[in-house]
Amino acid sequence: MDYNGYFKDRSRNLIATGHYRETHMVLDSVTGPWATVNSTRTLMFGSNDYLGLSADRRIIEAGVQALERYGTGSGGSRLTTGSFSLHHELESRLARYKGTEACLLFNSGYTANLGTISAICSKDWTVFGDRFNHASIVDGILLSGARLSRYRHNSMEDLESRLDADENTMKLIVTDGVFSMDGDIAPLPQICQLARSYNALVMVDDAHGMGVLGADGMGSVSHFNLKDSVDLQMGTLSKGIPAVGGFISGSHTTVDYLRNHSRSFIYTTALPPHVAACAIRALEIIEAEPWRRSHLAELSLHLKTRLIQVGFDVADSQTPIIPVITGEAGITTRLAALLLEDGIFIPSIRPPTVPKGKGRLRITLTASHTQEDTEILMDRLTHHAGALGLIAR
Ligand SMILES: *Cc1c(COP(=O)(O)O)cnc(C)c1O
Repeated sequence: MDYNGYFKDRSRNLIATGHYRETHMVLDSVTGPWATVNSTRTLMFGSNDYLGLSADRRIIEAGVQALERYGTGSGGSRLTTGSFSLHHELESRLARYKGTEACLLFNSGYTANLGTISAICSKDWTVFGDRFNHASIVDGILLSGARLSRYRHNSMEDLESRLDADENTMKLIVTDGVFSMDGDIAPLPQICQLARSYNALVMVDDAHGMGVLGADGMGSVSHFNLKDSVDLQMGTLSKGIPAVGGFISGSHTTVDYLRNHSRSFIYTTALPPHVAACAIRALEIIEAEPWRRSHLAELSLHLKTRLIQVGFDVADSQTPIIPVITGEAGITTRLAALLLEDGIFIPSIRPPTVPKGKGRLRITLTASHTQEDTEILMDRLTHHAGALGLIAR
């Protein structure tokens, strides 16, 4: 067997179909609205740093202090020698923030979803998941061996008929709170109601809702006032909170269960303590500075209104994730390249990540963007989209 040839062939296929991936966006600065990308000053509309905190001096100082005090690595897993006071403090703060009894840290949002779903479900479960759920949810379900029932995006009719037809007694409904490609919000009140009727557990992945939605930025569950109806709230420390890590908030019983059964929690080295210190400081700032959330909401609404006025389709965006639907993959790539030449970065998203014909530029705004930044964007975007015939000139 020629393994090198095998890998090369498979890569050639990707190149031929336009799906080859590379890490050729290289940053050399903080990820603020103006970042140095491939040595060029670039206006960024692709970061998940929703609250504009990734270069906040107070968070950097908290991290540096913890680095000085505890060193660079945690030196062990949480169940052996890697549990620091800062991990426990962060867990109790996150639990309080989310309005739950307890919380468990993971090393990323990805491993939180993977380890949680695979620990809870097994082959006598059915997991009902939105078709647009994040890959880490899908992977967790596949790893669990449970039956996977994917319902049409946000379709409560489809979810109900699937719940109705399923004969497994153990059921989990899992959804993104905010969908990462359309920026729309899951109908959580209806999902919780169906869960009650069919005696199913509910899990919400709130990666994009945290710090952005709800009172005090507590997320999509608090946006709908449903903290007593959602069994498991998953969050990440890598978006609104500008660090790295993931967590699950829920009851004492659920969190104790996960601590004992979740393999991606058990068999890995704990997050370095300074990461926990940064996350704690960021949480304090998010609670103390609601202007970040309100500025972000106002700027997002403003930009969406302007985009719609000039004729763009922004799907059902209700958040700082604003898709500009461009259609065919070729046009999407072309438009993104023209904008980059003008010093504006917006990620282009193409099938199979989104449905065929639904290619898009996926704009994300942060609290550190200004109206001046969005005016620059509007100017260049309408210019190039007009030239490409995407909107009327
Ligand atoms: C980013 C993201 C994750 C993964 O979180 P990481 O901390 O980046 O691993 C999971 N779910 C959703 C919906 C996400 O957007």
